[in-house]
Amino acid sequence: MNADEFRKRGREMVDYIADYMTEIRTRRVTPEVEPGYLRNLLPSSAPKKGEGWEFIMEDVDKAIMPGISHWQHPNFHAYFPAGNSFPSILGDMLSDALGCIGFSWAASPACAELETLVLDWVGEMIGLPKQFLHINGEGGGVIQGSASESVLVALLSARHKTIKQLKEKLPYIDDGQLLSKLVGYCSKLAHSCVEKAGMIGFVKMRQLDVDENYSLRGHVLEDAIEEDKKMGLIPFFVCATLGTTACCSFDSLSELGDVARRQGIYLHVDAAYAGNALICPEFQYLKEGVQNANSLCFNTNKWLQVNFDCSLLWVRSVDDLTTALTVDPLYLQHKHGDKAIDLRHWGIPLSRRFRALKLWFVLRTYGIEGLQKRIREHCRLAKLMESKILGDERFEVLGDVTMGLVCFRLIGPNTLTQKLLKLINDGGLLHMVPAMLNEHYIIRFALCTEHACDEDIMFAWKVISSTATDLLHRRLC
Ligand code: PLP
Repeated sequence: MNADEFRKRGREMVDYIADYMTEIRTRRVTPEVEPGYLRNLLPSSAPKKGEGWEFIMEDVDKAIMPGISHWQHPNFHAYFPAGNSFPSILGDMLSDALGCIGFSWAASPACAELETLVLDWVGEMIGLPKQFLHINGEGGGVIQGSASESVLVALLSARHKTIKQLKEKLPYIDDGQLLSKLVGYCSKLAHSCVEKAGMIGFVKMRQLDVDENYSLRGHVLEDAIEEDKKMGLIPFFVCATLGTTACCSFDSLSELGDVARRQGIYLHVDAAYAGNALICPEFQYLKEGVQNANSLCFNTNKWLQVNFDCSLLWVRSVDDLTTALTVDPLYLQHKHGDKAIDLRHWGIPLSRRFRALKLWFVLRTYGIEGLQKRIREHCRLAKLMESKILGDERFEVLGDVTMGLVCFRLIGPNTLTQKLLKLINDGGLLHMVPAMLNEHYIIRFALCTEHACDEDIMFAWKVISSTATDLLHRRLC
């Protein structure tokens, strides 16, 4: 494809995307295909000779679109939002075109410098203490591919530091033996990526009970630490969640921070979804205690109108992170290595996309106020949905509706709510996913689309309540 054809096809693609976004309502939210459907529609081998663009786009419509779950659809209420916006798409397009692989400052200075600048901007927007910002010198932020990677690198950093300290005291003990004693903590409602980080890092990860507000409390952590110390284990890491996946509950960061500081263990804050809302001053009380954290992460690609991937991780001590992750062959070194930032030492991959560009486009296009407006609107709409559910005595709401997520169930056995969700999802008018809160099976209703409005809530409530009526009626007959 030459530049002229690229201009033509590029314009067509922009039109295709704009049409998709503006007409998305007319589609079914989830596809009606069975596993393996695509192999019946496309050839089993790659074409020997290049094909015409028209044929490729024809297959997009015939084969790909029928298998797409429309995450940007106004009736998609599953998981958490998948961030999206036109400025972000355009920023990513430019990043793809530049094709820089910004593993070091020298590999592309603007990649490294814009990333540190926008991470400082956003760190300031969410009210992070100055120690977490690049401008201060000791801490700083970096873009990771996901919140899962963020918690993993946090854990690796804590593990490295702990083993190093232990080796100073116990030089003759084998690393493997020390590793077998390490134990980390999170709540039972922490995302599965925390457990996975423990698996990859080869350390025990204890999942602790939450209180009646689905929150991990300081005394529960402290008791677990003391118990483990008595058993000869070495507590080294805790992950607090701000905004759990199941119900958007909040661990008591101030209490956990106190315990972590007193016990000298590393505290990571996973705020994958809820961290976005910290750009609104009225939510900043939720981060009280963050001054005792070693790292914090949230995904702008969830709720800040930035497309996947763009997970932001801030650390208080860059040294702790980079000493755990630095391997420095000659071919990657450069003459400014002493004073410039090389972000390959801040994460797992060497190669890094220029993700800061889309974030910068979004921040500049919407401004802080524009981004706050959308978050507040989602929270208002979640309250509206909560009021609808609470107004119907067949239902109950579980957990507090603090942000854009409402968790509810039909009063009665879990099987009833399970059936309700299946009927709704099979109908294809709405899409939601379940979670377990203690022994309760609940349906999660998440505000997802950028332009969510009152009519979407009214529609969703109509589908939920009328499906419940059908289900309960059938049960009686
Ligand atoms: N942490 C929380 C609280 C989440 O809700 C999620 C995903 O929704 C994750 C971590 C994992 O995020 P990622 O897909 O970026 O790894």
